[in-house]
Amino acid sequence: MCEFCGRRGRAVVSDESGRVGILDLSRGWSVAPYPLAHVHADGSTGDLFTCPACDARLMRGEALRARQGVVRRLT
Ligand SMILES: [Zn+2]
Repeated sequence: MCEFCGRRGRAVVSDESGRVGILDLSRGWSVAPYPLAHVHADGSTGDLFTCPACDARLMRGEALRARQGVVRRLT
């Protein structure tokens, strides 16, 4: 699930370890790696994902508000 817009794509289907495969990431989703045991403010755990649309907005310099309320932008 995208951490910004909540979009859920078939591209992001975690395996039993909570990770996505490199083939999935090649479809335009990006991932911010977190330890699998890390619990985010929204209750999700592990890696954070960004869908292709939000990733493009970040690349244009926009700051996006994540689902857990954190404003994030590329530095
Ligand atoms: Zn998104």
